[in-house]
Amino acid sequence: MFRTVYLVIMVGVIALVTLLSVPWLFRRRCTKCGAWNGLEASRCKQCSEALPTDYE
Ligand SMILES: [Zn+2]
Repeated sequence: MFRTVYLVIMVGVIALVTLLSVPWLFRRRCTKCGAWNGLEASRCKQCSEALPTDYE
C-alpha cells in the first residue's frame, strides 16, 4: 500500500519536473521579440510576427 502511494508520488514529481524543465517542447518562441507562444499559435501574440511552422 505504502509502496504504491510512494510510486505514484514519485512518478508525479518526475513528470512535473520534466514539464517545467523542457518548456520548448510545448511552447514556441518568437524569433523577433522572444515572447513565448502556444504550440497552436501561428502568429506571435506580442508582435504579430509569423511563427515558424516546423522545428529546427
Ligand atoms: Zn514576437
